[in-house]
Amino acid sequence: MASRSGPGAAEILIGRHDISRRVHELAAQLQADLATAAGPPILVGVLKGSTLFLSDLVRAMDIDVAVDFMSISSYRSTVAQPGSVRIIKDLDSDVTGRDVVIVEDIVDTGLTLNYLRQTILQRGPRSVRAVTLLNKSVRRIVPVPLEYVGFDAPDVFVVGYGLDFQGNYRNVPDIIAVRDVARLVENPRLLVGPLFLGD
Ligand code: 5GP
Repeated sequence: MASRSGPGAAEILIGRHDISRRVHELAAQLQADLATAAGPPILVGVLKGSTLFLSDLVRAMDIDVAVDFMSISSYRSTVAQPGSVRIIKDLDSDVTGRDVVIVEDIVDTGLTLNYLRQTILQRGPRSVRAVTLLNKSVRRIVPVPLEYVGFDAPDVFVVGYGLDFQGNYRNVPDIIAVRDVARLVENPRLLVGPLFLGD
């Protein structure tokens, strides 16, 4: 992987087999905990990063579930309110009285998950849980309940398995740690060759 991007630009942090194993464990755990759900639970994917995780997770469950999506946009360090989040695409379903599972790719500051939890809770669900594939707990600003965690992640920028950099790398099957973010900012497609051509 190093040859086209220069040494040490990126490396596999979590390989596809470890991801698959952990996704199956999470699915089994969720399924057991949802056994007493009132009707099919709704799994809410947060667009776009969680789509690969969500699709693997639901295929590893053999109970009836519903799937819905939300898309939100956050303004982190802009002149707009720092840390403010707004809905770009809302749920299609009514979650009143339903068991809801928020499915995140990565929880970093916690701002997104906190906002989603509050928004969904205001709609009167029977229960709300959150599952994330990756948890960057060292970066948390807002403490937020997180019932299921795939992996604890170090404070590095990651791409792959749904996670992108400027729209690139979502379909890389492994989770890749970007060691040289400055070079990726300079050239957002820096890792395309190494990650897709099997270097
Ligand atoms: P939070 O609101 O918890 O700070 O941020 C959550 C969102 O930030 C994630 O859903 C993801 O879109 C983005 N994010 C946080 N860390 C990373 C990372 O290392 N790589 C990528 N690609 N996105 C990240």
